[in-house]
Amino acid sequence: MRPDILNPLFTPTETLEGVGPKLAKPLNRLGLGRLRDVAYHLPERFVTRRAVASLDDAAIGEQVVIALVPIEHQASRGRGPYRVLAQDDAGNICALTYFGRASYSAKKLLPVGEKRWVAGRIDQYGQMLQIVHPDHVVETGGDTLRRLCEPVYRLAEGLTQPKLANLVAQALEKLPDLPEWIAPSLLDRMQWPDWADALELAHQGVNAAARDRLAYDELLANALALALVRADNRQKKGRSLTGDGRLRDRLSLPFPLTGAQTRSIAEIEADLAQESPMLRLLQGDVGAGKTVVALAAMLVTVEAGAQAALLAPTEILARQHFETLRRMTAPTGVQIALLTGRDKGRAREGTLLGLMDGSIDIVIGTHAIFQDSVNYRDLGLVVIDEQHRFGVSQRLALAGKGRRTPHTLAMTATPIPRTLTLAQYGEMDVSRLDEMPPGRQAIDTRVIALDRMDDVIAAARRHLAGGQQAYWVCPMVHDDDTNELAAAEARYAALREIFGADVVMVHGQLKSEEKDAAMERFAAGGAKLLVATTVIEVGVDVPSATLMVIEQAERFGLAQLHQLRGRVGRGAEKSTCLLLRGEMLSETARDRLALMRETQDGFLLAEEDLRLRGGGELLGTRQSGDTPFNVATLEQIQRLLPVAHDDARMLLDRAEAEGATGKKGAALPGERGEAARILLYLFERDFGVRTLRGG
Ligand code: ADP
Ligand code: MG
Repeated sequence: MRPDILNPLFTPTETLEGVGPKLAKPLNRLGLGRLRDVAYHLPERFVTRRAVASLDDAAIGEQVVIALVPIEHQASRGRGPYRVLAQDDAGNICALTYFGRASYSAKKLLPVGEKRWVAGRIDQYGQMLQIVHPDHVVETGGDTLRRLCEPVYRLAEGLTQPKLANLVAQALEKLPDLPEWIAPSLLDRMQWPDWADALELAHQGVNAAARDRLAYDELLANALALALVRADNRQKKGRSLTGDGRLRDRLSLPFPLTGAQTRSIAEIEADLAQESPMLRLLQGDVGAGKTVVALAAMLVTVEAGAQAALLAPTEILARQHFETLRRMTAPTGVQIALLTGRDKGRAREGTLLGLMDGSIDIVIGTHAIFQDSVNYRDLGLVVIDEQHRFGVSQRLALAGKGRRTPHTLAMTATPIPRTLTLAQYGEMDVSRLDEMPPGRQAIDTRVIALDRMDDVIAAARRHLAGGQQAYWVCPMVHDDDTNELAAAEARYAALREIFGADVVMVHGQLKSEEKDAAMERFAAGGAKLLVATTVIEVGVDVPSATLMVIEQAERFGLAQLHQLRGRVGRGAEKSTCLLLRGEMLSETARDRLALMRETQDGFLLAEEDLRLRGGGELLGTRQSGDTPFNVATLEQIQRLLPVAHDDARMLLDRAEAEGATGKKGAALPGERGEAARILLYLFERDFGVRTLRGG
């Protein structure tokens, strides 16, 4: 239950003055449904204005505040702007220009002959100076325009800066007095303000200490939640699984394991032998050989008399895993079944029965394997492929499936930098496959200007003529961006003109059956060229695909590019990756693409990606899209997360030493514990508290 003290922060934004149904939509789009969200909607930047006495003093492009007297309103016919000519104290004239609907307010705000404070940016308009859509127009009597430094917020259509600033001010008025959750010594050393002060300061101007404190709060909440899950997991009852090697010995792998595979398998086996359930993440680049490691873990489980389940993010991947594993385990006699949402009727019944009576040892599938109707005789191990598609809460739901908590092995091919691994998977132990199986051919990677399309088409023709296949990726940042979808479809049409019916397309707006059908045709070799938005990211294994074309490569993150590139280079043939770039490249973008050409080490690319994106963040414009954080920027994550983790561990160790974690509701004892609990709810990371209490 959320502590009462937080109630004011979680009241709906509609309760603020001046918020009607009209504002609901833009507020929702910005995710500002509650006062808490409004208070944490931190400025993207600030404008600093200069008060000038006369237009003569203002430079073109400068942000100013100036007293002006409107002298004439000029409505234009048709679609032209609405202009108000106004005069400063020295008699200089400028135009205040309004487009569209904004002109209605101009009529009211600027009565002829009455002096007003006007704030805005000075522009040149022919011979005259003008201010387009002044930021503020107020009566000169009040002192409203004293503030020369103003926050600029991210907006949505239907909201204005003053309106939003007003809501923020109201929200800040209502901040409760919360107890301090940061250790006094740290607060002191960093010279950070209190929570409420930090919020106010962060809205008032550039303030690194305030911003850091707010970011730290979020990082600490996350670290604490993960540490709680971890502590909770340690107390859960699982079962110790040890194999006798009888199944693994019968596996005839056509290759020796790499050192990294052997090491990871040993780490997993040691975990499985423990009574407390394993929570381990297997990180390994595309092609690093995670499947064999997972198989080894599943065989140990079966040798120990229990069942294993492998959860894949998509139907196709489930099917591919099923085929691969069935082939590999053929000599062992292990019973493997596939269960997806598509299976209906008799076949499904058979599988369910087999899982219940234990005649099926290993089941592979999508979410369907964890529906309520699926019961296991003795589920000992859950393997989750492509973990990042699943949230923490889902992981916890899975853990509740058996009478005893099964061991969990998560796998990801997303090479996450170490700091972010901590943020995202801090409750897990990590095994890294940082060594590729021998004999992999390097993928020939080139950066090419988009206007050399003829060369690119020629390359595609060569690959297809050689009986190989190709991917062609178009960027689509938002699933609902119709322009980007149109561009991708235009490319598809153009490629069909050239290559005919061999071309298929998948994108985010297709139904999943349509997507699967196209992917399957490509995987089976029926289609030669697959045009796709990034839905193939967590994709299929098609060894005869040897060309990857990525349009507007500069718009993708390095980690994403690397993942896409990893779709090729899986067979015996030499593979190529063409990164098509637009004309206007920033220096960072150029560096990133160059790095793609130079290395194929996913972990290195991930670290560099973070470094390149992390730099250049001044006021913390949020670029941390793929992190679990809203307040903390990449730079702050790197700098402050390790501190937060130590702090969280310390808090938990103290709690454990006081014997509190086992007792219901007493997870975090003491005053600081209570404060920490409030923090968890403030950032909605309370799943940590809940698991502890639920037991
Ligand atoms: P990923 O980590 O992307 O899941 P896979 O498990 O699919 O990688 O392995 C990629 C390919 O490498 C497969 O064809 C697999 O058989 C092969 N492979 C795995 N381990 C080794 C190894 N030690 N030596 C040679 N090939 C290997
Ligand atoms: Mg895999």
